[in-house]
Amino acid sequence: MLSLRSRLTLYYSSVLALILFLFGLGLYGGMERYLARQTDAILVEKAQEVVNSLRPRGPLRQWIVLPNVNVFSSPGLYLQVVDFQGLVLTKSQNLGFQYLPSDENILGLAAAGEPFFQTVNVEEEKLRMYNFPLSVQGQLVGLLQVGRSLQLENVILARLGQFLFFAGVLVLGLAAAGGSFLARLALAPVNHLTEVAAAISETRDFDRRVVYEGPADEIGELAATFNAMLDRVASIHRSLEEAYAAQRRFVADVSHELRTPLTTIRGNLELLQSLHDSATQEEREILADVVSEVERMVRLVQNLLTLARAEAGRYIEKTLVNLGEIVQEVARQAPLLGEANFKTEKLDLLQEATVLGNADYLKQLLLILLDNAFKYTPATGIVTLAGLRGEGWWGIQVKDTGPGIPAADLPHIFDRFYRAGGVRRSGAGLGLAIASWIAREHRGKVEVASEEGKGSAFTFWIPHPA
Ligand code: ADP
Repeated sequence: MLSLRSRLTLYYSSVLALILFLFGLGLYGGMERYLARQTDAILVEKAQEVVNSLRPRGPLRQWIVLPNVNVFSSPGLYLQVVDFQGLVLTKSQNLGFQYLPSDENILGLAAAGEPFFQTVNVEEEKLRMYNFPLSVQGQLVGLLQVGRSLQLENVILARLGQFLFFAGVLVLGLAAAGGSFLARLALAPVNHLTEVAAAISETRDFDRRVVYEGPADEIGELAATFNAMLDRVASIHRSLEEAYAAQRRFVADVSHELRTPLTTIRGNLELLQSLHDSATQEEREILADVVSEVERMVRLVQNLLTLARAEAGRYIEKTLVNLGEIVQEVARQAPLLGEANFKTEKLDLLQEATVLGNADYLKQLLLILLDNAFKYTPATGIVTLAGLRGEGWWGIQVKDTGPGIPAADLPHIFDRFYRAGGVRRSGAGLGLAIASWIAREHRGKVEVASEEGKGSAFTFWIPHPA
C-alpha cells in the first residue's frame, strides 16, 4: 500500500504530466499550423508577384519572365511554368537541372482553372507547392508552380518537439520532488499525531498531548480534537482508577474488619468444644460443623484480603524462614479441612529447608491447595502432603484421589474466578489465582498434573535462597 505522501505526489505529478502534455500538444500543433500558414502565404505572394509581372504579348515562352528568386530573402523557393502538355516553359535558376513535379495528375487538377496547394515528396524532402493556372482571355495557357522546401519547418518542429519533451520531463521531475517535499511538510503533524497516539497506547500515559504549533487549519483541528478526546479519556481513566481503587480499598477494609470477629468466634467455638464434655454426640457434630464453616469463612476472608492486596500491587515482605516448620504446621491443620483420609510423605526432606519467604503467605498457599484437595475428594479418598527436592528447588506436593480436572480446563484453573466443570462445590474460583500469585511473589511456581477419575497433584516449587 502506497503511503499518503507517495499517493499525493503521484496524483499531483499525473495531473501535471497531463497538463504539460496537453500544453505541449497545443504548442506543437499551433506552431505547425502557424508555419504551414506562413509557407502558404509566401507561396501565394510569390505567385501573385509573378502573375502581376506578366505582359501577355507574343508566344507564351516570351512573355513570361520569372523574377529572380533571391536565395537570401526567400530561401528554398522555386518557380516553374509548364504548359498543359507538361512541357517546362521556364523555371527559376536555383532549380538547376531539376524540375518541380508536373505530372498528369497535377495538370488534370489544374485544368479546372482553380489554384491549389500540394505537399509532395521530392527526393526524400517535403515540398509545398502552389499551383496557379494561367489564363489569357478565359483560355488556360499554362501552369505557374511555386514550390518551397519544408526542410526548415521540419527541423524547427523536430527541435520544438525535443525541447518540449526534455523540458516536460525536467519540469515533471522537479515538480514531483518538490511535491513530495511539500507533502512531507504538510503531513508531518499527522505523523506526529500517529506517534503520540502509539506512544500513549503503549505507555498508557493519558496525560500526554499532541504539540501542534501550525495554523488552525484541518490538521490543527485534528490535533485539537485529538487533544480534547485525550482530555476526556484521561478524566474517564482517572475516575475509573479511583472507582477501582475505592473498590479495592472497600474489599480490603471489609475483609480486614471481618477477620477479627471471625477469629474471635472461632476461638470461642473451640473453647466451647473443649468445655462441653457433657455434650451429646449430635451437639458435638453440630459444633464441629460450625467450627469447620467458620474456618472456611476465615480462609475466604483471608483470600479476599490477599487478592485486594495483590491487585493494589502490594509486594510480599520476605525473610529467611524454615519451610519444614511451615509445612508441619499446615499438616497439623489439614485433617480439619475435610473428611477424606490425610497422609504425609517425606516431609522430613524439608526439615532443613530455608527459603526466602513470608510464612503467613506460604501457609495460605498450602492451605488453598489442601482445601481444594479435601473439597473435591470424597470421604473414602486420600489426600497426601509430600515433601520434594529438585535441583535448586524445594517442592511441596498436595495429591488427592478426587475426580481430577478435565484436560480442557487445566490451562484455565489458575485464572481468577475460573471454576472447572461447572459449579461443583462452594468456592469463588479465587483460590488457585491467589496461590499462583503467592508462588510468583516467591519466585516459585505451582504445577498441576491431573487425570480425570484418578485424581490431581499440585506441586509448589520454591527456589533455594540466592
Ligand atoms: P474454587 O474456589 O472454585 O476451588 P480455585 O481457584 O481454587 O477455585 O480452583 C479452580 C477450579 O479448579 C475449581 O473450581 C475446580 O474445578 C478445580 N480444582 C482445583 N483443585 C482441584 C482438585 N484438587 N481436584 C479437582 N478439581 C480441582
